Amino acid sequence: MEYDAIVIGAGAAGLMTAIVAGQRGRRVLVVDHANKAGKKILMSGGGRCNFTNTNTTPANFLSANPHFCKSALARYTPWHFIDMVEKHRIKYHEKSPGQLFCDESSKLIVRMLLDECAAAGVQVELNTPVRRIKAGEGGFGCDTPLGHVRAPALVVATGGLSIPSLGASGFGYDVAKQFGHQVLPVRAGLVPLTLSGKHQERYDGLAGVALPIAASAGDASFRDAMLFTHRGISGPAILQISSYWEPGVDLRLDLLPGVDAYEALVAGRNERPAAEFRTVLSGLLPRRLAERLCEVWLPSKPMRQYRDAELKDIAAKLQDWPLVASGTEGYRTAEVTLGGVDTDEVSSSTLMSKRQPGLYFVGEVLDVTGHLGGYNFQWAWASGHAAGQAL
Ligand code: FAD
Repeated sequence: MEYDAIVIGAGAAGLMTAIVAGQRGRRVLVVDHANKAGKKILMSGGGRCNFTNTNTTPANFLSANPHFCKSALARYTPWHFIDMVEKHRIKYHEKSPGQLFCDESSKLIVRMLLDECAAAGVQVELNTPVRRIKAGEGGFGCDTPLGHVRAPALVVATGGLSIPSLGASGFGYDVAKQFGHQVLPVRAGLVPLTLSGKHQERYDGLAGVALPIAASAGDASFRDAMLFTHRGISGPAILQISSYWEPGVDLRLDLLPGVDAYEALVAGRNERPAAEFRTVLSGLLPRRLAERLCEVWLPSKPMRQYRDAELKDIAAKLQDWPLVASGTEGYRTAEVTLGGVDTDEVSSSTLMSKRQPGLYFVGEVLDVTGHLGGYNFQWAWASGHAAGQAL
């Protein structure tokens, strides 16, 4: 069977590539080994799919080459995707600034993409793993359960390694290596962090405690909510910083972001001189956490007994709290995979390999990883659109 392009992966990036190429008259086959298209879309945003972020800029992405994502993002903006969503009468709302979610269900986004594929004449085949890829005269040949399929263009849209139970595989990296591409080291991103040993014991029993924080690692800092879990810490601020954290990197938390902790403690001393420090701290932080901090690190006495210098010292600690993570929960729960196919060997305008003419890489398989908040889908749409236009 002959096509103009074969797309491996019926996820966000693969379906967008196919739609755009199909609309341009190309005969496109999309194959996926999973039994459903867009499984991650279905799971995303708690079932409501945070499908884009209207504040998307290249600064929202991690990559060894931070310039690589610029061209595709500039040519397919969140507003282009919103136009498609509105054309399909899918209702949506803005949650945090810029983050757009479906009102009803992420199923509507998958339905929209499959309807667009059908309208563009794209053939989507599920339960169809690709066994072997051969490049030769006139393009690529793939062995699949459908038989041998051929096309002058092959698009690798197989995503990253996160959540293997949703169909994730390292196949895209293998294809990249087969054609001489570098694959930069991969690791789990947007993932809860784990604590162990004494670092875990000191926070034991706090599962369920949530608070606003600012988390920092290296030059990166994110202000959002944090949640203690049975295994460690999670919540949006921790997921964001996890993409910048590796074992050995210093993780610091401002437990009172936007608050002058020293002023707050001095006010507490002035207003309630007889109150215990732990009581005053419980007014600033969740009570269970405040009590734990006092049990383990900050001895509590009546407020009137604290000198200014002591309060200054405690305030500084609260706003630069060191936390020693032992690792991450890994690909089982990670939303994304950091690293991947080295962008230096891929054209930023067409997404075509600089090593193998006709071979394209789109979406998360590339070394481009977005922050939490709809950026990863925006990269999938934008890179898919750029490749679809080039096919
Ligand atoms: P994928 O969507 O992963 O698609 C890859 C496809 O390739 C899959 O269908 C897979 O079955 C197929 N495949 C893999 N290997 C093979 C093979 N060997 N043969 C055939 N097919 C294969 N991002 C956001 O922007 N907003 C969110 O709300 C959001 N929520 C998320 C929630 C969860 C739980 C997870 C895991 C991720 C979330 N993300 C979110 C990230 C986002 O889902 C991904 O970045 C995005 O799906 C990447 O698109 P992709 O097309 O590159 O890869």
